[in-house]
Amino acid sequence: MSDTSTETYLRKPWGSSVRIEDDLWRLRLKNPVGSLLVNTFVYRHRDTLAVIDPGWPWEVQLLEDALSDLGFGGIKAVTHWLYTHSHVDHMGAAVLLQRRSEAPHMIWPWVEPELERWHHYQDRVNDWTPWVEAAFAEPQRSQILKERTGRSAGGARMLELFGPGALTHTRRYEVGETVKVGALRLELLDARGHDPSHLALWEPSRRWLFSGDLLLAMPSPLSRAMGDDLTLYEESLQRIARLPAELLLTGHGTHQRGEDIARAVARSRDQVASLDLNLRQALSPAPTDLYTLALKMAGGKALEPVSRWWVQIANTDTHLQRMVVRGEAELVEDARGPLYRGRG
Ligand SMILES: [Zn+2]
Repeated sequence: MSDTSTETYLRKPWGSSVRIEDDLWRLRLKNPVGSLLVNTFVYRHRDTLAVIDPGWPWEVQLLEDALSDLGFGGIKAVTHWLYTHSHVDHMGAAVLLQRRSEAPHMIWPWVEPELERWHHYQDRVNDWTPWVEAAFAEPQRSQILKERTGRSAGGARMLELFGPGALTHTRRYEVGETVKVGALRLELLDARGHDPSHLALWEPSRRWLFSGDLLLAMPSPLSRAMGDDLTLYEESLQRIARLPAELLLTGHGTHQRGEDIARAVARSRDQVASLDLNLRQALSPAPTDLYTLALKMAGGKALEPVSRWWVQIANTDTHLQRMVVRGEAELVEDARGPLYRGRG
């Protein structure tokens, strides 16, 4: 069953699917408004049809097409909506799906305060303008803000596209609880860091780990704008490293098996460690702004594509803030904005 040769890949008008195990499929729906593809997992066992991370809000019809085309009976046949975290590419479609499906949406205490105003919440965490104002110094701050006007404030468009939305058809679980889904027993593990509500779903008898955006090929974005936390992220990596996982199912990119899982965890740890080291080397006794530091760390040239460059800057800022808290860097409030200098 774990033999990769049994994996069947299909390319379709709505995207692609891979049958990873007898009862588990990975869908990648086409993203009509951007380039980032999300892994949506479908588990089918007898009357159970569970969907984990159903994708972007503008992909609901594509999900409908996929679930029909694959013979699952469409969205109305879904029995469980499950999530790894609250971000728009994973849980942003929840209210829209609620309008088409009678199945409950899994929720947990960390997302609970936002459910009543779900689309407001999505727009708020995707609006990075307050962060740009707080994190950058002039002249970059004004330049970045100017470039952003007229655009949808960093992806904050849920209200504009879909109006307000409340997620009400829910089933509440505690972190640490086990969710029964068909023959699966999914333990909800604390995987905070990349999102203050991030979980990992762990199936101990199958040894499957749904890790959301905890382990990605690129560094997991950690942004102050979205309430992310580097220390929690490191703790989550440690927690996940102890699991005897045999199948790693990530929110983006390819699933991994066996030894490759430990490599994926090590890669994420190395990404954190090397950014920390680069930042320490880039800091100097002369106060420097965030943008200049990030540029220096990237060898003087912005990274491509631009999304990768933004992740790099956001992660640099997250590391910087922790160094300031720990007394390893000094924040200098300058007329231009926040500047930083190394300590020792
Ligand atoms: Zn994601």
